[in-house]
Amino acid sequence: MTTVHEPAVTAPADALSVWPASAAEPRRGELTVGGVPLAEVADRFGTPVYVIDEDEVRERCRTYRHAFPEAEVLYAAKAFLCRAMAHWVAEEGLGLDVCSAGELELAVTTGFPPERIVLHGNAKSPRDLDTALRLGVGRIVIDSPSEIARLAAAVGPDGHQKVMVRVVPGVSAGGHEKIRTGTEDQKFGLSIPDGYAQHAIARILDQPQLELTGLHCHLGSQIAGVKPYVAAVRRMVGLMARLYEQHGLVLPELDLGGGHGIAYRPGEPALDLTALARGVRAELAGACAAAGLTVPRLIIEPGRAIAGPAGIALYHVLAVKRTGAHTYVAVDGGMSDNPRPALYGVRYAPRLVGRHSTADPARVTVVGRHCEAGDIVAADVELPADIRPGDLLAVPAAGAYHLSMASGYNLVGRPPVVAVDDGLARLLIRRESLEDIRSRDVGL
Ligand SMILES: *Cc1c(COP(=O)(O)O)cnc(C)c1O
Repeated sequence: MTTVHEPAVTAPADALSVWPASAAEPRRGELTVGGVPLAEVADRFGTPVYVIDEDEVRERCRTYRHAFPEAEVLYAAKAFLCRAMAHWVAEEGLGLDVCSAGELELAVTTGFPPERIVLHGNAKSPRDLDTALRLGVGRIVIDSPSEIARLAAAVGPDGHQKVMVRVVPGVSAGGHEKIRTGTEDQKFGLSIPDGYAQHAIARILDQPQLELTGLHCHLGSQIAGVKPYVAAVRRMVGLMARLYEQHGLVLPELDLGGGHGIAYRPGEPALDLTALARGVRAELAGACAAAGLTVPRLIIEPGRAIAGPAGIALYHVLAVKRTGAHTYVAVDGGMSDNPRPALYGVRYAPRLVGRHSTADPARVTVVGRHCEAGDIVAADVELPADIRPGDLLAVPAAGAYHLSMASGYNLVGRPPVVAVDDGLARLLIRRESLEDIRSRDVGL
């Protein structure tokens, strides 16, 4: 076994360490991102609002290309997708990983090359598959046995489609039970010990119109260490070796999925990409050499690690309430624009912006405006003791799984997305209006 050192890098305790690289404090209390004061964004576009730093997204794409020059890097669209994001990712030379007809169609209609797109999902609808075939996606990841015949029929006897098979590598990793997908006891993938994966692969090989290009796995999300990935490589190459013995099959690709962890608060660990690249590369080369296999082309699928640190959520404080031992700071958003604290117990580090406070820090819990006690934005954080209604709060690391998981709860309307770059702010997605909501409500 290859040994891997330094599994994670820790974000420095410095307050701006989890912010985009462009974040600056030109005057005390004023915070700019992409050269634009956040208070100005709030004034111009209202709150709650998501801000995304275009350069940070692009720079993160480049960091991946640089760390994995030999690999194909696919951005996992479910983290955050809009037309601008699709453009940035395409321009930076990444492919795209989608899991629905909606994500796929948005990307392709905005010019994303379909051959650089991979469709995955544990339950693809007929519309997902039809759209994928119609638009010509590069690869479809098969996740259940029943999909094989369905896909083969949809492709037709004269058609051709590249596919991969999602395999359960039997590796437990990830920041929370709900986002662990590498083990046997969850809904994704086909298991190796039970023989399901091998059986499905044999059936795919029987379908001449399906071309199996490789195995796929995804361990889960918020993984800070390299070891789970190295273990997954070992398992996957083990299966590839058996497939070579049984079928003479040489698979040219190996997709290791995403799940690369980021720091949400200063001092939290994040996955070290250089260490990941080194560890995976060494294990892949060693395991393939030992099995007499050619090294397959690596595919990786980061989502959060590209979009997450590039985004900020801005809220206005609506109310400050002291009850017993607690101080609650209530803002004008909450679980409808960020369900992650409620779903996974995630902790954030909000910051007062737009004014400089000389007050001592106080322990408070930032809560949302929704009708649930679990509607928490940031539990037990330090903010200036004079925090008051009208103040502006900024939550960093809000670029992934915020808007994409936003809901219509309480009909408050989903927030807009504003891109900042080079001192300019521009609207990418407008705020969802009551008119938008009313226009869908067509019966009485
Ligand atoms: C969610 C997902 C990703 C991206 O996960 P992150 O944690 O955002 O990196 C990649 N691949 C697949 C198959 C996924 O389901």
